[in-house]
Amino acid sequence: MKIARLIIFLYLIFSTLSTSAQRRPNILIIISDDHAYQAISAYGNKIIATPNIDRIAKEGAIFKRAYVTNSLCGPSRATIITGKYSNKNGFTDNEHSSFDGSQNTFIKELTKSGYQTAWIGKWHLETIPQGFTYWEILPGQGSYYNPDFIMMDSSKKRVEGYVTNIIEDKAEDWLNKRDTSKPFCLIIGHKATHRTWIPDLTDMGRYDNINFPLPKNFYDDYAGRKAASMQDMTISKTLIIGYDLKMFDSEESENKDGNINRMNAAQRAKFDSHYKPIYKDFISQKLTGHALTVWKYQHYMRDYLSTAASLDRNIGRILDYLDQHHLTGNTIVIYLSDQGFYLGEHGWFDKRWMYEESFRTPMVMRYPGLIKPGTVNKNFVLNLDIAPTMLDAAGVKIPADMQGQSFLPLLQARYASGRDAMYYHYYENGEHDVSPHFGIRTKRYKLIRFYQRVDNWELYDLQKDPLEMKNLYGEKGYKKITEQLKMQLNDLIKKYDDTDAGKILKQIK
Ligand code: CA
Repeated sequence: MKIARLIIFLYLIFSTLSTSAQRRPNILIIISDDHAYQAISAYGNKIIATPNIDRIAKEGAIFKRAYVTNSLCGPSRATIITGKYSNKNGFTDNEHSSFDGSQNTFIKELTKSGYQTAWIGKWHLETIPQGFTYWEILPGQGSYYNPDFIMMDSSKKRVEGYVTNIIEDKAEDWLNKRDTSKPFCLIIGHKATHRTWIPDLTDMGRYDNINFPLPKNFYDDYAGRKAASMQDMTISKTLIIGYDLKMFDSEESENKDGNINRMNAAQRAKFDSHYKPIYKDFISQKLTGHALTVWKYQHYMRDYLSTAASLDRNIGRILDYLDQHHLTGNTIVIYLSDQGFYLGEHGWFDKRWMYEESFRTPMVMRYPGLIKPGTVNKNFVLNLDIAPTMLDAAGVKIPADMQGQSFLPLLQARYASGRDAMYYHYYENGEHDVSPHFGIRTKRYKLIRFYQRVDNWELYDLQKDPLEMKNLYGEKGYKKITEQLKMQLNDLIKKYDDTDAGKILKQIK
């Protein structure tokens, strides 16, 4: 009798445990590349619509102050999976870093705790993924048309079609085949909207009739900002008419382009029928000076946003998949970009800077039952926080050496205020000539220290100068706030154990 009772008791305990294990939320993280918040209707863009990203925001939360720790492709992904700054995870820049896959990640913690885990699409961390149940990745930046994929057995497989659709197909394939007795964590890594912005065939010409308004600081002269005056990332000089804007002066130069010569005959015919008339018109106009820059800007925006159209559509497909498979109620969905991007602000394209457009990233999140639909979150959150947040949601202990913090409490309690300052460190000293720098952003101010290429400080009052045009460092009346920010910066450098930045600060003193 006693044994029978014991058996029933144990059965009850185990059945409760397994039910709660099954109730652990599924996790879907969609990471795009270089997708600017300025290009999303939920963030206020009124010219174009991104209904599917907006749907996540409507059914969950939009983060108005989501930022990255190092505004670049590889470093951001390394920070997302490790929950650590670049100085700790070792992936500091895209030119010299290679991810040490033996280190801990939130994925490894989830796999250990019984999750099925997968990364499908753009990875860009040089070494192969470790700790996933399944992965299938683009080599390096990958290709928009007929992309190659690296498989788990290290073979390469070329798939006919457009990359954003294919990545979504592969993600759904994996979901179809997964072990449904276990929760899943799927990361979809999109190539879009990375340079050189080649839209899906069906989206070519989508915005040809729109003239995009120039950002207020499109003709920035970089006065008082030495590092900004030395960069090589302007639409006027750096953006290449052929390579970037697909305006080829001959069949031969078009054939030499690695993105275009991958296309099959049907793709190439559609590509040519769209771009060749634009080229003909462009040449006939014989544009120079500002008129040429403005033409480049319009064409850049059209290609960029047409490429983003497929991204949003495929986000819609995965949301529909969750609906159709009754997964919506128990699946966390996060959409974010690996960083922000310039759409003409300061006259630029690209990213890297601690200035707002590249430092900030779009992020929306749906978590039924926990996040109230229509939530607008204005706390400072970082890509550094994704790893601990996902572990928190899955009920897995957050390793003590993760440097981010779970933002679930910020979504649950209105009184939770989160961090009052953020630390940033950009390392790459190469392409686009952006000087390495680190700095602090508080709710009102931003203090940046440039080093290596340029050695100086910049200070901004974001309340008075949201476009960051006036460097106030050394100006009368700002001494006290500067000293205070330097102390706070020093504290953050110590907190995150960024010894390189610490050394630089000491040398200045
Ligand atoms: Ca990127």
